[in-house]
Amino acid sequence: MVRGQGRPYARDGRPLHPDIRVVSGDLLDQTSLIAAVEQSCPTEVYNLGALSFVPVSWKQPTVAAEVTGKGVLRMLEAIRITAGLSSSRTTSSGVPRFYQASTSEMFGKVRESPQSETTPFHPRSPYGVAKAFGHYMVQNYRESYGMFAVSGILFNHESPIRGPEFVTRKVSLGVAAVKLGLMDKLRLGNLEAERDWGFAGDYVRGMTMMLAQDEPEDLVLGTGITHRVRDLVEFAFAHVGLDWRDHVEVDSRLLRPAEVELLCADLSRARQKLGWKPEVSFEELVAMMVDSDLRLLTDSEDA
Ligand code: GDP
Repeated sequence: MVRGQGRPYARDGRPLHPDIRVVSGDLLDQTSLIAAVEQSCPTEVYNLGALSFVPVSWKQPTVAAEVTGKGVLRMLEAIRITAGLSSSRTTSSGVPRFYQASTSEMFGKVRESPQSETTPFHPRSPYGVAKAFGHYMVQNYRESYGMFAVSGILFNHESPIRGPEFVTRKVSLGVAAVKLGLMDKLRLGNLEAERDWGFAGDYVRGMTMMLAQDEPEDLVLGTGITHRVRDLVEFAFAHVGLDWRDHVEVDSRLLRPAEVELLCADLSRARQKLGWKPEVSFEELVAMMVDSDLRLLTDSEDA
């Protein structure tokens, strides 16, 4: 595992599993990535590192390009250099398999719906553009060096440890806070945007299955079911017995310079190739997140 800060703790503050050894690396620093690969001798590398909150990518577009885009290239280079691969070499046995976290944000202003592996990209944010760069680099290293390198084009995947800036967690925390009387109004941006939201645990299972394929292939992972932000809010408030219309306000400052209005996965190729399908429904996911945040806020109130 490569961690920017070398922290021994997970994002939710729990200690990491004792078998996990943390090796520091920085997606901006080629030398540190080479050292991390040399030290850890991995059989599989998952690049999940990115500046991943879309609105920030307009504020820091060059950082997005460096970390989210060129960071992928540096990771691929670290593997290539450590393995001594050159363009003339045709065998890649013993070289770690590489997974890149590509994203449905690359589809952006969608050309068709649902979106599959063959849908053209039209990214709508510096984040989406940077991810598209990484995506094509993975494809290029696969073709140039015979590396087992794949991109998972994953649709939005959420869990109780999702960052609070993302809409699902913002809503689950907001609903819990309103229910406990800690907050009155939840301010949101575009309620009409439609997303294909799934449970992150299902997607991690899919990621490992992608690296276990016989032949490397980029695949779409999603649920194939779309909900509006408005539906998310309505369901989350209803879960605790409240009417969302009493507690939600639209704040135009939260609207984006360019919006991705609709995302919906065509997961038929992943079903066929991997036998993968999500197991947690949208309703179960939202209930899980709201219940978790109710416990979290209740515990912190008691502390
Ligand atoms: P994204 O799909 O990776 O950008 O994930 P987000 O969770 O950040 O946003 C999902 C959708 O929710 C986008 O279309 C946002 O415009 C919309 N949205 C509406 N209100 C909010 C809000 O207050 N915060 C965030 N993060 N998104 C919001």
